[in-house]
Amino acid sequence: MKESMYNIYFLDERSKKCIVFNTMYRSAVQIDNEVFNLIKNEEISKIENESLEELKNGRIVIDDNLDETKMLKIKFNRGKFNRKVAGFTIIPTHACNLACKYCYQGHGNVLSDTMKEETIQKTLKFIKKKALGFKKLSLTFYGGEPLLFPDIVFKILEKMSEFVNKNNMEFQFKMATNGTLITEKIAENLKKYNCSVQLTLAGSRDIHDKKRTDKKGNGTYDRVINTMSLFKEDKIKFHVRVDVDEDNYGTVDLLLDDLKERGFGGISIVFSSIERETCYREMEYGAHKVGLASLAHLFKVAHEKGFKTNPMDIHNVVQGCGALQDNFFTIDPKGDVYKCYAAPYYVEHRLGTIDEEGEMILINYDAYCKWTLRDPLCIEGCRTCKFSPICGGGCAMVAYKKNGDINSPGCEEKNLGEIVRAYIMQNCPELFEECAYESIRL
Ligand code: SF4
Ligand code: SF4
Repeated sequence: MKESMYNIYFLDERSKKCIVFNTMYRSAVQIDNEVFNLIKNEEISKIENESLEELKNGRIVIDDNLDETKMLKIKFNRGKFNRKVAGFTIIPTHACNLACKYCYQGHGNVLSDTMKEETIQKTLKFIKKKALGFKKLSLTFYGGEPLLFPDIVFKILEKMSEFVNKNNMEFQFKMATNGTLITEKIAENLKKYNCSVQLTLAGSRDIHDKKRTDKKGNGTYDRVINTMSLFKEDKIKFHVRVDVDEDNYGTVDLLLDDLKERGFGGISIVFSSIERETCYREMEYGAHKVGLASLAHLFKVAHEKGFKTNPMDIHNVVQGCGALQDNFFTIDPKGDVYKCYAAPYYVEHRLGTIDEEGEMILINYDAYCKWTLRDPLCIEGCRTCKFSPICGGGCAMVAYKKNGDINSPGCEEKNLGEIVRAYIMQNCPELFEECAYESIRL
């Protein structure tokens, strides 16, 4: 037997104990110093039977003839070319009603197109053609602010829900909205289609109101809170993304306490660093970003205060990018097709455009193949990285912005150890009862 190449070790020098976490199988096993040394000294055969069984079950040690990189490739390709879910992100408009200080979308002013009727019809045909034969259709509305044009959103949903019913498919509907335009009628419709909504806050009330303003400069905290109350009353699924940078990092505690006081104690929360231009993130030029260890700390604090969190949910830096799946497309207001939600700002990433019949034409095969075939095992720097099974090579757009090529590492930090530690603490708290596991050994 041999040691898996995807093990990360968390050591507690005082108690001489260690947690081994395997990123491929997301398994955590507690071992003592002696077993740790035997693994590291390639003396696995000397480990006594009971411990060895546990290590084998967690895939911490594996058969000598197992090539894990090949197994990982199979795993990635299974996800990439699955025939279960067809996913589409629709950007009905690039316009926005807010003027957040840190918005990389330029407050809806850099791009401001909105879908015309003709494009809506083309989009519907395109989705139907691409999704037929899949078990599930997943639609995500993204912007700009999609609810500036609720008629477009609900027209598409009505047609798509007829389509899935006729073809006996499952339907999933998600939306990222700033949460300031929700009326009772909109809430009713979101409920009707079983929507799962992402809302955004940016720190305690004072700080949020400075960062996320409307075009007149008014803060929006109370409006988002009202929307949360409406959703709670109507039982509409939602989670809150908290955008964090050095300015508001220290106010997150206050925010969480305020949410608890207002009765939102058990909701799902995800933390996202401002100035990482990845999906669901916004960018402030010159912002002082917080590192992954700080984000991991916020997940821990929120978890301790009773919120639902998953530290691996630092979207796509840790979970891998969904846009790399063969059956995933983003459609912008002009009917142009991309893989990534953030790509409509870069014409070189456009895959093609949709014609009257719902076919993609003017195809940029180079872009299509590059995006679809992006694979961390073909990227120098990611190939031997212990985090590649959970990170998948990180965000392709970050890689492009940093290195001019999506086929390069898309991480800000190559060490996701703190995130993994927060994840284990949350999922196996008993392992931390007597140990702190301060040191991380990759
Ligand atoms: S490439 Fe990056 S920004 Fe685009 S969908 Fe993937 S993770 Fe999100
Ligand atoms: S090098 Fe960075 S992007 Fe590549 S797999 Fe490792 S953590 Fe992810």
